[in-house]
Amino acid sequence: MTNIQPESQHAAELTLERVILRENARRLSVVSVALIGLVFPLYFIEHRLFDTGPLILAFLAASALLAPLIWLMRIQFDCWPVWRIKSVQYLYSFVTIAYGCGLSFWSARQADMTHMFFMVMAGLVVLIVMPPRESLIVHGLTFASFVLPLPVFMSNPDAVLATRINTTIFMIIIQSLSIELYRMRKRSFTDQLSIEKQNAQLKELVRLDPMTQLLNHEASFAALSDEIRRSRRMKTPLSVLIMDLDDFKLVNDTYGHLVGDDVIRQTADIIRQTVRTTDQIGRYGGEEFIVIMPDTDLAAASVVATRIRRSLETAEFGHSFQVTVSGGISQFQMEPIDELIRQTDSKLYLAKKTGKNRIVDSLSEI
Ligand code: GH3
Ligand code: MG
Ligand code: MG
Repeated sequence: MTNIQPESQHAAELTLERVILRENARRLSVVSVALIGLVFPLYFIEHRLFDTGPLILAFLAASALLAPLIWLMRIQFDCWPVWRIKSVQYLYSFVTIAYGCGLSFWSARQADMTHMFFMVMAGLVVLIVMPPRESLIVHGLTFASFVLPLPVFMSNPDAVLATRINTTIFMIIIQSLSIELYRMRKRSFTDQLSIEKQNAQLKELVRLDPMTQLLNHEASFAALSDEIRRSRRMKTPLSVLIMDLDDFKLVNDTYGHLVGDDVIRQTADIIRQTVRTTDQIGRYGGEEFIVIMPDTDLAAASVVATRIRRSLETAEFGHSFQVTVSGGISQFQMEPIDELIRQTDSKLYLAKKTGKNRIVDSLSEI
C-alpha cells in the first residue's frame, strides 16, 4: 500500500521518529506520575517486601525529579531537539530498570526467587517504543546488568541458573514484543501517509477539468474568491481575464468534435505557457477560459492577455485553420465577486460585438 519516493521516505522516517517520540512522551508523562502513586504505598509495607524501604525512597526521589522533566518534555516537545527528548526517555528507562534490578538484588539476599521485581520494571520499558536497533541495545544492557551480577546477591547456584534462564526467555519475549510494536506503529504510520496522499490526489482530481487539467468551473470560482480575500487583506492588485474562442462552432462543424477537443487542449497549453506560475487558469465553460492574476494591475494583465491572444492567433493546430480568442479583463475594485465576473463578461461580450480576436479592458471602449 505504500508508494513513497526514496527522498520523501527519508523525510517520512524522520517524522515517524518524532511521532513515536511524542507518543512515548505522552505515555511516559502518565506512567511517571502513576508509578509514584503506585510505589508510594509500598513504602508502608516495605518490611513485608524484604525491607526495601531505602530503595523505594530512592526511586520516589528520582521519580519526583524526573516526572517534572518528562512533563516539560511533553509540553515543550516541538521546541526540543531529538537528542534531548531521547536522553530523557532513556534516563527514565534507566531509573526504572535500576529500581527493578535494585529491588531484585536486595530481596535476593533473603529469598532466592525474587526476580519478579526486575521483570515488572523491565516490562514497563516496552512502553517506550523505539527502533529495533535501539531497543536491542537497551534490552541487552538491561539483561546484562541484571544477569551478570546475580551470583553476588544469590547464594544458591541453581537459583542463579533458574533466574538466568527465566530472565533470558523473558527478555526474548520483551524484545520481540518491542520490535512488533515498532513495526505495527511504522506500518500504521506509512498507511496513514499514503491515505493522506491519496486524499490529496482525489481532492485535486475533483478540482480539475479532466480534458485540460485546468481548474474546473467551481474550482475557478473558489480560486477567485480566495484571491479576492487575499487582495482585500494584503491590499495588492488582482486582475481577472475571461476568454472565449471565436467562432468555435465552425471548427466543430467543419472538422468534427474530436478536432475541436484537441484545439481546447492546445489552447489550455498555450495559456499555461504564457502566464506566470502564480496565476491560476480555469476552464470556465466549454471553450471559455479564466485567468486569475494576483499582484497584477490592469495594465500588466492587458499585456498578458494580448500575449495569449497573439500566441493563439499564430499557433499551428495541424490543420489549415486559425483559432482566435476574444477576452475581457478587469482589475478587482472591492466589488462583490459576482459583479466582478459580470463586468468582465460584459467586456468579453463587447470584444465579440466589436470584431472578435481582441481583448477589452474597459466598457467605455467603442
Ligand atoms: P463566438 O465567437 O461568438 O464565441 O462563437 P462560437 O461559435 O464560439 O459560439 P459559442 O462560444 O457560443 O459556442 C461554443 C461552442 O463550443 C459550442 C459547443 O459546441 C462548443 N464546445 C463547447 N465545449 C466543447 C468541447 O468540450 N468540445 C468541443 N469540441 N466543442 C465544445
Ligand atoms: Mg466561442
Ligand atoms: Mg462560448
